Amino acid sequence: MPDPKSMPIDAHTQVVGVLGYPVRHSLSPVMHNAAFAALGFNWVYLAFEVPPERLADAIGGMRALGLRGLNLTIPHKEAACRLVDRLTPQAEAIGAVNTLFWDGGTLVGDNTDAEGFLRSLLEAGVEPKGQRVLVVGAGGSARAVVYALRQRGASVWVANRNLARAELLAQRYGAEGVLPLDTAALTPELARFDGVINCTPLGMQPNEATMPPLPLERLPAHAWVCDLVYRPLETRLLREAHAHRLKTVSGLGMLLWQGALAFERWTGANAPVEVMERALRDNL
Ligand code: NAP
Repeated sequence: MPDPKSMPIDAHTQVVGVLGYPVRHSLSPVMHNAAFAALGFNWVYLAFEVPPERLADAIGGMRALGLRGLNLTIPHKEAACRLVDRLTPQAEAIGAVNTLFWDGGTLVGDNTDAEGFLRSLLEAGVEPKGQRVLVVGAGGSARAVVYALRQRGASVWVANRNLARAELLAQRYGAEGVLPLDTAALTPELARFDGVINCTPLGMQPNEATMPPLPLERLPAHAWVCDLVYRPLETRLLREAHAHRLKTVSGLGMLLWQGALAFERWTGANAPVEVMERALRDNL
């Protein structure tokens, strides 16, 4: 595989990148630059720290400079919907954009988080179609996850600290119901679920000791537990699920697959997923 450091940057180099605020924690540059190097593409992926009030200027700059594609991360995913020429159906339904690509001269806003999440489940051997799934959290990532699960034909319940927010999410995507996020409320309910997904930051560094209040011992033996948090790779939730002999799916897969799908939108080439995964693991 070519060494990324040996790739020349010259007058032909194509530029893609991520806009975020903050953005210096992003693993996308190492993941995508490893992929470009592996395929011998004269492309580079950069991180741009763009405050919310400069997002329109930055996307205008992308148009003027001919950047080949962009990712959007916190806090730009919703605002970017209003700055593109067209949204894909999934971006429209989720109300958030994480990938911009060109379709001829048309700047398209897409969302690869939902499809990336689903791919990560399927790659881990979990088929949510027809299953009963509990989504914990009702923020931006929960929206993509609930959308993906409903599209796939799963029955979904949403548990959240703020119940009104869970209700809104459930109504919007046709989830079956909502539950308060506390152990007492969830204890009598958990036995009927096939899978649980954490879409809150509970367990994320530097708060590794925390986890959502889920009585895991109530889940059936065949159930699976997925955590979108990937710092650390094995969260306390996944460790405890493992101790209960439940199948676990880490958040690394969603990060990887949303990136692989974006890579394919920009380049038209199949993403070298193994190279991208190794780059992520080496940098986590
Ligand atoms: P968000 O939009 O800010 O939503 C956060 C959710 O977590 C809300 O439902 C919030 O509940 C809940 N929450 C926050 N702190 C809580 C606490 N102390 N106790 C109980 N609930 C709490 O965040 P997000 O964008 O959805 O991201 C959530 C997590 O997913 C982050 O850790 C992020 O790193 C991870 N993520 C991973 C990937 C991936 O590729 N693997 C992709 C996206 C996000 P309220 O509504 O009650 O405030």
